[in-house]
Amino acid sequence: MSKTAVVVLSLLLAMAGIGAPIWFAIAQSERQGFEAVSRQALAYARDILLRSDETGAQIAVGVDRLARDHAAAPCSPASIDAMREIDVGSSYIQAVGYLRGDMLVCSSFAGQSSQFSLGPADYRTANAASFRRNVRFPFAPQRSFIVIERNGFAAVIHKDLPIDTAKSEPDVSLAVFSRQSTTPLSVRGHIEPAWLGRLGKAREAAFVDGEHLVAVVRSEHYLTAAIAAVPLRYLRERTSDVARRLVPVGLAAGALLTLAILYLAREQMALPAAVRSALRREELFLLYQPVVDLQSGRWVGVEALLRWRRPNGEIVSPELFIPIAEQHGMIVRITERVLELLCKEAAGLLAAHPGFHIAINVSPADFHDPGFLDGLHAALRGMGAAPGNLILEVTERGLMDPDVARTTTGVLRRNGFALAIDDFGTGYSSLAYLESLELDYLKIDRSFIEAIGTEAPTSQVVQHIIAIARDLDLSMVAEGIESEAQAEFLRARGVQYGQGWLFGKPMPFAEVVAHMRGQAAVQAMAANDA
Ligand code: C2E
Ligand code: MG
Ligand code: MG
Repeated sequence: MSKTAVVVLSLLLAMAGIGAPIWFAIAQSERQGFEAVSRQALAYARDILLRSDETGAQIAVGVDRLARDHAAAPCSPASIDAMREIDVGSSYIQAVGYLRGDMLVCSSFAGQSSQFSLGPADYRTANAASFRRNVRFPFAPQRSFIVIERNGFAAVIHKDLPIDTAKSEPDVSLAVFSRQSTTPLSVRGHIEPAWLGRLGKAREAAFVDGEHLVAVVRSEHYLTAAIAAVPLRYLRERTSDVARRLVPVGLAAGALLTLAILYLAREQMALPAAVRSALRREELFLLYQPVVDLQSGRWVGVEALLRWRRPNGEIVSPELFIPIAEQHGMIVRITERVLELLCKEAAGLLAAHPGFHIAINVSPADFHDPGFLDGLHAALRGMGAAPGNLILEVTERGLMDPDVARTTTGVLRRNGFALAIDDFGTGYSSLAYLESLELDYLKIDRSFIEAIGTEAPTSQVVQHIIAIARDLDLSMVAEGIESEAQAEFLRARGVQYGQGWLFGKPMPFAEVVAHMRGQAAVQAMAANDA
């Protein structure tokens, strides 16, 4: 990635890093604010519905008892006594009486002494109860009552009793409706009857309408519903309360995230320069991993794997710095360095073991380097080795350009070098294409060896790869063998060579030399015995 691209990308990420947590904090405050005020509104609505249900229950019990016991003589002294008992015994009912037409002919408060006309009923329900929403008695003309009558017996209740709640918040509007009428039975403040319709089939609903957050709750026992409407001001206050708590947290998180992004971007920009200086300061070194003959267990060669020891002692994996070197045009220099290191370290070994090979990893860019071939020959001279001692490992990706691949592999082969296709199975090369190249080894990628004997979907792939290698007449090296079971599986299927922790991790060259010395001694002893 170019420097400008890194700068632009990190700036964009940094902006997103600051913006996202703040946006999240605000969205979260709005959500929490809405939830809190909805809970409050629903609590008011449930409370007044509870009072209204309780009133309904007291009326039903009282009025039904009167109808059962006193239907024949509804205004008899015994009936009036029963009315008084109900009146005194129930918390929500103010009075009980008997109606003939629209006239209250006797009652718990006036006996038979005075009669009042109540005016016509506002509506009747399906179970023959009649409702009067606004009844005034001459002895208390400023108070308004609700009168509910059934079978002639009527209960009088104070109009404001169900909504006698939330006194400390007078701007909260409250109402109880019979769901047969759009006029409330009892109301405080501003209520839109249309809000009832928003309930649909639900038992409860909370929503914002105009300047209110509205909660509607339906009774489970009666055809009634309660509404509480809280001014939106409550919601705004609540939201900004939550925001005051959350936004600083969001800001801090955003700042931290941004710092992390900027730090990583700086690292990213600094890495190519660091790799360059690693080359200059000779911080790169090689480790060697044995490649064994799977049948005999003998070491037949090693793969040279690069490491970078940073000045602070940290060892950096090639998976990290090789791609950077490839992107920033340093890989040719790196391959040269690998060859230099080989000359320094491996010179003696190949003279003592002429059949031994050393594999190095090369990149696509090496194929375009005009000095590549000369460099290889120079290295061979330095090591006192023959071209056949050197295996060049190149990935399928490295062979992507067919013209370059065919020419280069042809030239290298004619010069006597052996070629291996690395990480096989992770690219997309077709069989026909591979057939057209001059190759010697196929290295089966570690991921397929790992899958052997597991339930992984790729567990069968290794068999296909073995069949491909046979078709192409290539020797096989299985990478990443960690268990004897994997080795046995591969051995049984004719894979010739193996590499992996089971046989040895990448190690300094001195350890390779020591091992080869031991191996040679054992061989010599075996030859003597024979
Ligand atoms: P690669 O060429 O496929 O090398 C094999 C990798 O598998 C090595 O990782 C090795 O340490 C690891 N390995 C071997 N056996 C086992 C095992 O049993 N288990 C596990 N988990 N891992 C195992 P390493 O050394 O980190 O190298 C990674 C890659 O970096 C190499 O993959 C190669 O593509 C690249 N690389 C290394 N050195 C060079 C170099 O000098 N030049 C270039 N161009 N690429 C290099
Ligand atoms: Mg390799
Ligand atoms: Mg590999």
